[in-house]
This record gives sequence, C-alpha cells and structure tokens, in this order.
Amino acid sequence: MAFIECENLVKIHKVADLEVVALQGLDLTVERGDMIALIGPSGSGKSTLMNVLGGLDVPSAGKVRVGTHNLTEMKRRDQVNYRRNVVGFIWQQTSLNLLPYLSILENVEMPMAFNSLAGRERRERARTLLEQVGLADRMAAHPQQLSGGEQQRVALAVAMANLPQLLLADEPTGEVDSESAGMLFDTMHTLNNEYGVTIVIVTHDYQVASRVNRVVGMRDGRASIEVLRRRDEAGVALTEEEFAVLDRTGRLQLPRAYLEALEMENLVRLRLHDDHIGIYNANGDAQEGDIHE
Ligand code: ADP
Ligand code: MG
Repeated sequence: MAFIECENLVKIHKVADLEVVALQGLDLTVERGDMIALIGPSGSGKSTLMNVLGGLDVPSAGKVRVGTHNLTEMKRRDQVNYRRNVVGFIWQQTSLNLLPYLSILENVEMPMAFNSLAGRERRERARTLLEQVGLADRMAAHPQQLSGGEQQRVALAVAMANLPQLLLADEPTGEVDSESAGMLFDTMHTLNNEYGVTIVIVTHDYQVASRVNRVVGMRDGRASIEVLRRRDEAGVALTEEEFAVLDRTGRLQLPRAYLEALEMENLVRLRLHDDHIGIYNANGDAQEGDIHE
C-alpha cells in the first residue's frame, strides 16, 4: 500500500463570497521513503496540497490518506497528534521556521517538549540532528547569527525533532543562494536515508528538481505530468522520461504547447489503434480511413 494516497482531491478556498478551486480532483500516490519534487506555476495548488497533507487544511471533497491516517475525517485530537508527530514542515520564509529568542539547540528541542521525552534524551536527539544537518558547532548561536541557508538547515532539524514519517518542504530554497540550496538538498537527502522519512519538496529550483527521481508537475489544481528518472548505484541518471498523468477517471491534461501547436480546443477526435490512442483536431475533416501516422 502506498504511503500517501490522494484520490479526486478537491479544495475550495472561500473568501467572503468568492470561491477559489485550488485543487480540482487531484490524484497522487507516493511510496514510503520516497523523495519527490512538486513543481508548477504559481497558483497551481502546490501549497494547498502541502497544507492538506500537513493536516493544516481540510479538503472540501475527495480522499487523502497518509500512512494509517485518513485526513478527510480526522478528529480534532488526532489532528493535533498528526501535526505534532507524523509530519514535519519547513517553510520558504526562514523567519517562520525558527524562534528568534531561542538558541539553535533550544529551537530543535522545542517541538519535543510537547512529548514525554526526558530532558537528556531531548538534548541528545537535538544534538544528533544538528550534527546531521552539519551545524553541530552552532548550537549555542541564535537564528539571526546564521545565514539563510544555515537557518533552513536548522529548520530541517526542527521539523525532524519528533521523527516524523513525512517531511513537507514548501519552497525551502526560495530565499537562499544556489550553493546553500545545494547543501539544503544534500541535507534532505541525508535525512531521507538516515530516517527513511518520506519527503515532498515544492520547488522552482531546477537544480533541486533534477536531483530527485520523481518530479510531479502540477497545473490547475491537478497532477498533470511526471518525470521519472532511473539511476545507477553511483546516482548517475540512466534514463529520464516524461509522462502525462492519467487519473483514475481517465482524465488527461495535454501539454498546452501541443494544443496550441495544433490549434486544438474544446473538442478533439479520439481513435483507438492497436498500440496507441490518436488525438486529432476536431476541425479537420479526417475520416476514419484517412488517418495515417
Ligand atoms: P501555489 O502554491 O501553487 O502557488 P496555492 O495552493 O497557494 O498555489 O494557491 C492555489 C489557488 O488557491 C490560488 O488561486 C490561490 O490564490 C488560492 N488560495 C490559496 N490559499 C488560499 C486561501 N487561504 N484563501 C483563499 N484563496 C487561496
Ligand atoms: Mg505556494
């Protein structure tokens, strides 16, 4: 069974008497221990999906399950436990991730305070995490004494404090330079390997997207394309293939560029062949017999 399963997920944001459909029937499955990137234009529903997966926002319709947690019908108490222990979050704005008046070490210990973990264990785990993110020597510093990239790595340690099964990172490299972005990505990779934590990263950063094995492209509130890579043991990409996502009800989003190239809109003709389906311009006068490819 997949770790994350979204089926026909719909989220409508209501503001005053306006309704915005941010997710329109999204299907997505993610295997446990995977590390995937979500890309897509601004407004395509990436953050909405992250907030739903993080238990911060309740979907309007459809199904979403993370591990054993059914997020569509979670009780208040489960919700608190889910946010605290099952998921970890890291946001784009470095200032949202850390408390400025606490030291780095205290920041990482902070989320553990809500769980019944002895003080010594807390400190030990926080130190281990800070070593894993490469900041063992900055434990006594305060956030503002660190660079943006370092602060984001601390944020990763904070997000991992309660050893979540799922780590959600919404444009974590958005405010840091490309060298720091690379280090942040390496750190996520390390955490993925060390803890087997499933990671979903929203990113505009090609460097990040090119380094994961699965990239899901979102458009208009749906998963629309996917790029899958296979690598050898040394991590060198062997193959890279782009796929269009066919959802459970048989819907497919065609790339806009293809539609424009052939001036397709509204209605198209479909033809079933032995090994493929042809999609033809409805305005053309192609008859059953004339179609050659
Ligand atoms: P992305 O992260 O891909 O840029 P979002 O999920 O933030 O996309 O937004 C998807 C759509 O939903 C946008 O049209 C956005 O304006 C709208 N939206 C997102 N959050 C809210 C909200 N809290 N209230 C109202 N509209 C929202
Ligand atoms: Mg966003």
